[in-house]
Amino acid sequence: MALIVQKFGGSSVSDAEGIKRVAKRVVETQAAGNQVVVVVSAMGDSTDELLDLAAQVTSLSNPREMDMLLSAGERISMALLAMAIHEAGSSAQSFTGSQAGMITDAIHGKARIIDVSPYRIKTSIEKGDIAIVAGFQGMSRDSNDITTLGRGGSDTTAVALAAALKADVCEIYTDVDGVYTADPRVVPSAKKISTISSEEMLEMAASGAKILHLRCVEYARRFGVPLHVRSSFSQLEGTWVLPNPDDTIKIQEGEPLEQPIISGVAHDRSEAKVTVVGVPDIPGKAAELFGIVAGAHSNIDMIVQNVSTHGSGHTDISFTLPIVEGAEALAALKAAQESVGYDSLEYDEQIGKLSLIGAGMRSNPGVSYKFFRALSDAGVNIDMISTSEIRISVVTSADLLDTAVRAVHAAFDLDGDAVATVYAGTGR
Ligand code: ASP
Ligand code: MG
Repeated sequence: MALIVQKFGGSSVSDAEGIKRVAKRVVETQAAGNQVVVVVSAMGDSTDELLDLAAQVTSLSNPREMDMLLSAGERISMALLAMAIHEAGSSAQSFTGSQAGMITDAIHGKARIIDVSPYRIKTSIEKGDIAIVAGFQGMSRDSNDITTLGRGGSDTTAVALAAALKADVCEIYTDVDGVYTADPRVVPSAKKISTISSEEMLEMAASGAKILHLRCVEYARRFGVPLHVRSSFSQLEGTWVLPNPDDTIKIQEGEPLEQPIISGVAHDRSEAKVTVVGVPDIPGKAAELFGIVAGAHSNIDMIVQNVSTHGSGHTDISFTLPIVEGAEALAALKAAQESVGYDSLEYDEQIGKLSLIGAGMRSNPGVSYKFFRALSDAGVNIDMISTSEIRISVVTSADLLDTAVRAVHAAFDLDGDAVATVYAGTGR
């Protein structure tokens, strides 16, 4: 008997029909002889709607109450799913994150998991029930308050439970058939990837591929949890994300496996660019700047420092951060203008980031050339560049991002013959 953790995203449970469809699928999985733990997200775009509601009530930040509010979204879907499973003739019990033993630190809105003790979940499945867990939430033992893990955090709940329960697989159900070589909403000819290493998936997620939450991929990799990303709207095999690259061979059933050089193109519109102009070019200034930004709880992504113009003694430092963290970081930097001694600040939200990812980059020369050639042929100007061993990322203007993604995707021959199906979801 296998233990399977299944996670259903908001678009899979967006209405009563969706909840019934998911219930049927879960019951079938159990009937096939498995123990099943289900993690659900809030229905459809309801987390966004709750955020909109809060914004209509106040402009003040209220992290504790915000977590109380947002965690309610997942509670609605878990209870309805349990009812639908009863209706479908099986038995289920739903649990909030804290009941499921998801213990986090006390940082509201982006809490980190520090312990998972799923005793009640174990008891429930051993009794023959289907256990349903509200995604994206936990509880802090320090504050005794409810916390949330950050947007998209239900994936991480699922993987954390799978690791703690030693599940055989964690299935992430979404509104497309798997991980694609690019977002099918932008590149309709994108191809489904059958297996990908967690190393590459990590870079994809970090580069804005919204299909999996970054922390879920990190967690799965650290604890060796195999992920199967697939659609709740079809029975097709999805994409396997494998922590150990050697496992690829097993899944492919003896087919000779040639790893592609490039696994995909990811893009991201959620970041803004900050430029600090005229920073004194002396030791310690970068540390001072990034200390200020860290104090404002911002997660920095790309950083570029210009060579200081000969003799000027000053340089410009640009970096990107999530748009939602921009205001706080800017306020903190402004307050420190005199002490740091920089000239001015620039801020731009109309940017996009494009990343090309592939483990084969390590051993294949010419990838960068082809990449920059494709962007240049498409008339795309580049603002910033950063690389890792298996990734090249650039920042462009937001309005050229889709063009850039399609150009790079085509240049690396990633286009498939079929049009990818997007079953649901607004992409919000
Ligand atoms: N409902 C939360 C969100 O929309 C968590 C999740 O869906 O994973 O971000
Ligand atoms: Mg969601």
